[in-house]
Amino acid sequence: MINAIIALAVIAAFLWIYWQKKPKQSLTSTGVPKDYLVGLNYLLNEEPDKAVEVLIKTLQVDSDTIETYLALGHLFRRRGEVDRAIRIHQNLIARPSLSKNERMLALLALGQDYLRAGVYDRAERLFLEVIDSKLYVQESYRYLIDIYQQEKEWEKAILAAEKLSTLSHDNLGRQVAHYYCELALETQKKSGREMAFRTLKKAYEYDKYCVRASWLQGDWERQAGNMKAALRYYRQALSEDADFLPEVLPAMVACYEDLNDERALMDELKQLLAQYPRISLILILADRLQKKEGATAAVDFLAEQLQQKPSIRGLDRLIHLQQAQSEQPVEPRNLALLQTLTEALLKDKPVYRCLQCGYSSKILHWYCPGCKHWNTIKPIMGIEGE
Ligand SMILES: [Zn+2]
Repeated sequence: MINAIIALAVIAAFLWIYWQKKPKQSLTSTGVPKDYLVGLNYLLNEEPDKAVEVLIKTLQVDSDTIETYLALGHLFRRRGEVDRAIRIHQNLIARPSLSKNERMLALLALGQDYLRAGVYDRAERLFLEVIDSKLYVQESYRYLIDIYQQEKEWEKAILAAEKLSTLSHDNLGRQVAHYYCELALETQKKSGREMAFRTLKKAYEYDKYCVRASWLQGDWERQAGNMKAALRYYRQALSEDADFLPEVLPAMVACYEDLNDERALMDELKQLLAQYPRISLILILADRLQKKEGATAAVDFLAEQLQQKPSIRGLDRLIHLQQAQSEQPVEPRNLALLQTLTEALLKDKPVYRCLQCGYSSKILHWYCPGCKHWNTIKPIMGIEGE
């Protein structure tokens, strides 16, 4: 509905400008230019292709009308009718009467059409041409970065982000650090760990608290069997951003299991608990206690922790443990009922949420598909989360 209103507004603008500039063209008995009634009629009959044809054919482009053309093109692109937007913008560019500024505006618009259509090579060429003109340089770099991210061309993305940083006040450090992490992942597959480590060093130059880089190094050391080195990197990751504790913790436990050092694991977990009282950590400690000392010790520990840190996941585990106990102080049917409730509360709950736009998901994305920001998605906190 809003689109339809905007479309009519754009057409009305066409009509008005045309009336002002070409009063002598063939008019209908009501004084309206014939071609415009034809164009408008097509649009109202939902035949936008014919409408565009008529409007393109009949309208003279000059500085008064280019904005109207651009608005119509923008409208079609926004509605997902990219082919029509492309036709309008290509038609604009073909006009020799355009000033340099107008031509660059049209190229920028056409680039956005191709970007939207996923024709990245053409979009890239257009934005580079705009940059060469020294006009709309920052906008063009932002679109180029968008293309390189979608194409996973990380080296190009780094260069474009560096250029944009020098031209604007955009703080792109964290974003570039992620590009280096992406690049390091590719390097690791192609050229091995040593080269990949070198690439990750660059990530720290852009974000000295790059948790992803530390986490990756931990994973690679673990894969190489260097558990103690891996643990150092995981600790570093937690000191950089403790929010990722639920992800890093299982890897740390795996390192200790490989080292076969349960005691050191318990010491580390207790130490971490003092620093980061998160439910993932409490549940892992409860598990270890259950294995080592039995269900009663785990129940006591969990019940005490839950008093300070109420959590549905914690409650769910407590009910499980209670059922595992040999002496059952609670009526089993009541426990089963409670468990149904906690399971229903936890079922299909997203685990991560973007702090910027609220996008939520069950898997961790470093790049938010919702708002297109890097590093804004975190594990959900509170009674239903961590
Ligand atoms: Zn987001």
